[in-house]
Amino acid sequence: MSTNTITSSPAVRSFRSPTPRSPRVTMLLRPTTVSSTTAASVPILTKLQKDCATPVPVLRNIADNMAADMRAGLAVDGGSDLKMILSFVDSLPTGNERGLFYALDLGGTNFRVLRTQLGGRDERVIDTEVEQVSIPQDLMSGTSEELFDFIASALAKFVKKEGGKFVLPTGRSRETGFTFSFPVKQTSIDSGILIKWTKGFSVSGTPGKDIVACLNEAMGRQGLDMRVSALVNDTVATLAGARYWDDEVMVAVILGTGTNACYVESVEAIPKLQSHKSTSGKTIINTEWGAFSKGLPLTEYDRAMDAESINPGEQLFEKTISGMYLGEIVRRVLVRMAETGSLFGKHVPEKLQTPFALGTPNISSMQQDTSEDLEAVGSILYEATGVDSNLDARKMVVEVCDTIAKRGGRLAGAGIVGILQKMEEESKGVVFGKRMVVAMDGGLYEHYPQYKRYLKNAVAELLGPELSSHVVIEHSKDGSGIGAALLAATNSIYEH
Ligand code: ADP
Ligand code: MG
Repeated sequence: MSTNTITSSPAVRSFRSPTPRSPRVTMLLRPTTVSSTTAASVPILTKLQKDCATPVPVLRNIADNMAADMRAGLAVDGGSDLKMILSFVDSLPTGNERGLFYALDLGGTNFRVLRTQLGGRDERVIDTEVEQVSIPQDLMSGTSEELFDFIASALAKFVKKEGGKFVLPTGRSRETGFTFSFPVKQTSIDSGILIKWTKGFSVSGTPGKDIVACLNEAMGRQGLDMRVSALVNDTVATLAGARYWDDEVMVAVILGTGTNACYVESVEAIPKLQSHKSTSGKTIINTEWGAFSKGLPLTEYDRAMDAESINPGEQLFEKTISGMYLGEIVRRVLVRMAETGSLFGKHVPEKLQTPFALGTPNISSMQQDTSEDLEAVGSILYEATGVDSNLDARKMVVEVCDTIAKRGGRLAGAGIVGILQKMEEESKGVVFGKRMVVAMDGGLYEHYPQYKRYLKNAVAELLGPELSSHVVIEHSKDGSGIGAALLAATNSIYEH
């Protein structure tokens, strides 16, 4: 049995506050060809672009390392940076699922409840209803019973509203899928032990316990007749949700606050798997690829951010490519440009020196500004970091954003190619030479067009025009919600 981490969220939430620095006045040498505002920042940008460069040989090396690490992680627990966790999901939705199924998604400050009525191959999804409930702050640091009672009670209220097209056959219990994005040691498709809470949760009494049992007990206390048929992480749920519509989905990738990927693996290709039996001969592996590290082009800004994080040396791929960090890396470069290049004048505002002041949505929005004077860039910069900027400074900032987004997107693309390579090595022709789909989800992938483009370009460059024409990289919006309900159907105790 392997140690399981059911999460695609980053392990780092807080950074130490920065050492206050006094504003510095720098004497500038001003070449006549470069604007006086940016002259001293140009070499900083040039060095950044050099350190972040991801030409094809670098990407190819990343893909090869990813494939090798996957193999080593499948051989033995702890064999590489990649945990290669068994999800216990051996069969994916086919489209033939029928009946009423629920899903419960607990991943952060909100949880979502969903029900869906499935009508089989012809009718597919007859109806779906979703509700989002925010978790009161005090429950995030209360007792396990309090938290699960709150969840079960919200679920019970949701169930009471069941009607219309939603029909439970007589004599059956309701079944739900449970997407739970915290570190869990999975013990079967429907059980798993919470290792620890993360993301601001510090609920007493749950770590060390089977979270499905905690939920079942709470549902019992609410008098709710429902059983958890599948416990999964959000990557696996996304794969299931996308597979329902398309038989050729083989990989799912989340690029949101954090990042993770899962894929369909042959059971024979998993030496560390001993007792687990799969009737299909296939199983879903949760790679936990955020921990990947070999061959990443890192800069001094990445190293400093990592060193100040609460998990130095860990989750390096995630720290280079995921939404939680891209804005922060840009901010660190801008601090350097402000301090040694006076990019925003003599004064360096405290706000700019505050870790995570600049979010990835900020850098994405700045890159969407096509106006002549980059007015939106100016106001986002001012709002987020307190700096005043002229047009030359704004152009420089956009260059920095682009450099970091480009590296992130291209590395994510190389990671995907690494997974495809590993799958192809296992069984020739399974991936390349025929249509195959990679299902993508997460706020970063969805809302950052440049990032998405860089990712796709990198995949195309690595695979070449012939192979890449068969690889479809497709956004599967909110597949994870319905995916968990579908996995409840696939793993139903009733005949199906
Ligand atoms: P989570 O990963 O926390 O489950 P999401 O998949 O919704 O949640 O992703 C949220 C993340 O997506 C944010 O933390 C942010 O990094 C990124 N994001 C959100 N909006 C944008 C945007 N407009 N541009 C770029 N990145 C964004
Ligand atoms: Mg998510």
